[in-house]
Amino acid sequence: MQQRLFELRRLRQIIQRTAASPRAHFIRAAAAIPPTPAAALKWRAAFPAGPYNHRMDILTLHRGTAPLLISLPHDGTALPDELAHRLTDSARRVPDTDWHVSRLYDFARELGASLLVPRYSRYVIDLNRPADDVSLYPGQNTTGLCPTVQFSGEPVYRPGCEPDDDEIAQRLTRYWKPYHAALESELARLRAIHGRVVLWDGHSIRSRVPFLFEGQLPDFNLGTAGGASCSPALQQRLVAILAAHDDFTHVVNGRFKGGHITRHYGRPQEAVDAVQLELAQLNYMNEATFEYAPQRAQRTQQVLRALLAATLA
Ligand SMILES: [Zn+2]
Repeated sequence: MQQRLFELRRLRQIIQRTAASPRAHFIRAAAAIPPTPAAALKWRAAFPAGPYNHRMDILTLHRGTAPLLISLPHDGTALPDELAHRLTDSARRVPDTDWHVSRLYDFARELGASLLVPRYSRYVIDLNRPADDVSLYPGQNTTGLCPTVQFSGEPVYRPGCEPDDDEIAQRLTRYWKPYHAALESELARLRAIHGRVVLWDGHSIRSRVPFLFEGQLPDFNLGTAGGASCSPALQQRLVAILAAHDDFTHVVNGRFKGGHITRHYGRPQEAVDAVQLELAQLNYMNEATFEYAPQRAQRTQQVLRALLAATLA
């Protein structure tokens, strides 16, 4: 009896401590399985908007019902105040953003997809690079974990304002790790429900970036880590859809083969298929002004809808 009472008291302490810590809230929310009825009550109180949608200061996770998680790691445009004044004027416009991809993919909620969207720019930290910053494309121009050079080749920082190793480590803790914790938990939640899950890493880039590639990029660039990150059957379904829309050009595992997210989480043998799509931005926006082009976007969204539906087939 004494032992039982002790265990109950200890359990209550753990629950109270969990409820007091915002980070624990976040992990609990991502796991979506409150361990006890009492914890569930506290958890619901902490998220009055409900357990399936919550906003954090650094990311938004919309929790869907289908076995599909869409990650949009370069959608963020925010810069923390303490960082913004250290950037060059051109970098402060965050030109290398995957502009408007959360708007472009918003329709996917109707398909039951989950959506994970960060708030901050890739200039703060690139969520699609490994934490140890090993190059994704050895021997080719690319940008790193905390980029110091823009796609234009111009510097991101004013002279002498680049981050040192300590600051990079802090950004990993503050921005990178929570994004990946949310991604991993949501994948686990969906796989537990459905027995399988598809991770769709959605990107976009200017159609011409001489620093990174020659000439004009194909419209749809599918990356599956050379076929390692998703099942051959899924890749075939996606390629068939792209081939059927011959008003758009496409390539599979061309210049963009899938970044860290696709390569790290794609485990088809463990029922996690990961696919990266790099879209040429001219298909839904004005690349010079960064303005969204709704009519052009609609045509692109038709293809996107067919691709996402194929992941659920
Ligand atoms: Zn991107």
